[in-house]
Amino acid sequence: MARIVMKFGGTSMAGTERIRRVANIVRRQQAAGHEVAVVVSAMAGETDRLVNFCREANAMYDPAEYDVVVASGEQVTSGLLALTLQSLGCKARSWLGWQMPMKTVEAHSKARVESIDAPEMIAALERGEIAVIPGFQGVSAEGRIATLGRGGSDTSAVAVAAAIGADRCDIYTDVDGVYTTDPRIVAKARKQKAVTYEEMLELASVGAKVLQTRSVGLAMKEGVRVQVLSSFIDDDATPADEFPGTLIVSDEEMDQILKDSDMERQHVTGIAHDKNEAKIILTRVPDKPGAVAHIFEPLAGASINVDMIIQNVGRDKGETDVTFTVPQADLARAQALLEDKRSEIGFNRIITDDHIAKISVVGVGMKSHAGVASTMFKALADRGINIQAITTSEIKVSVIIDEDETELAVRVLHTAYGLDASDEAA
Ligand code: ADP
Ligand code: ASP
Ligand code: MG
Repeated sequence: MARIVMKFGGTSMAGTERIRRVANIVRRQQAAGHEVAVVVSAMAGETDRLVNFCREANAMYDPAEYDVVVASGEQVTSGLLALTLQSLGCKARSWLGWQMPMKTVEAHSKARVESIDAPEMIAALERGEIAVIPGFQGVSAEGRIATLGRGGSDTSAVAVAAAIGADRCDIYTDVDGVYTTDPRIVAKARKQKAVTYEEMLELASVGAKVLQTRSVGLAMKEGVRVQVLSSFIDDDATPADEFPGTLIVSDEEMDQILKDSDMERQHVTGIAHDKNEAKIILTRVPDKPGAVAHIFEPLAGASINVDMIIQNVGRDKGETDVTFTVPQADLARAQALLEDKRSEIGFNRIITDDHIAKISVVGVGMKSHAGVASTMFKALADRGINIQAITTSEIKVSVIIDEDETELAVRVLHTAYGLDASDEAA
């Protein structure tokens, strides 16, 4: 017998018919002899709908009230799943963020899980009750509802798994594992048997939305065993206990898996894209110590994450242009904050562009293999795709390009690194 957390994403929860399929998967897992806690997302599209209501109500919305609105989607699905499980004869109840409670810290709308007080829930699991937990929501230090950032139900699931000492956290979604790139863009993407925490962390952070970045970081820190698998399965599908999906594993476990299957580690594990960033250019900023700090301090103060930063070579008269990217959702706020500080920063013009995409290639193999970046630049150049900015880390290279070229760039790179499914068969 094991204790298992099962998380179901928005597509899996979209409507009562699908919720019934989810309830059946949950019931089967319990019937296999396990204690089961389930974490659910809002129905597909619901969170976007709620976010739009907030924007319509007040473009400069208060994140604490935004949380009140957007957390409601998960409350609905958790209640509906508990009801459906009960209709199948299972003992089940919902545990809302404040009832566990799941305590959070830091900014509303992107809160971080600090602790989960689980003894009551564990006692319920031990009595054979299925715990149904709305993902995405916790409770702040002030006792107000707080949400964990988009895609945050994955993090709820991993946090619950750590808190209840689960043997495994299964993330059920609308694809059957982690692929070399988004399988909806590249038909020849290959499903991976396993991916290391480090690679998954990097892939998620650059846009592979199959897992929220924080969920991977938390799983790595807490040693939670994570499997990504499909909820769109028949009754006779391979059971989750036999690992039909993709496992997220430590480096050592990966070495063992590769050894057992007589395979070599690839230089590039995956390619991700992200259309949710926006570019800001401040022109003619004074080229002197402290100027950059003046730009980024107000953004940090407003919890706006700045990703890529490029300070161009100085112009005449001791001036320079500074280019950087922020999440598209924060663009209006960032622009307003910078306009406010115009005289302090001393820039001339503010130019924004939300028609960009970030394309990244990720792989632990890059640490020991040169030439990954130059392959990327050449492949993109050969197709006439212009690179607007570049950043690198030990296991990643990212570029900013025009959003219209996203799909083409991902396909071209997938082929350039020999990741296409047919290449493996050859
Ligand atoms: P959920 O609603 O279940 O949380 P998400 O939409 O957040 O699901 O994540 C699943 C989606 O992630 C898939 O439908 C797929 O399009 C996308 N995706 C992006 N990159 C990858 C990848 N490398 N492997 C698998 N899926 C990916
Ligand atoms: N419903 C939330 C979102 O769409 C959280 C999640 O599904 O993970 O971002
Ligand atoms: Mg998700």
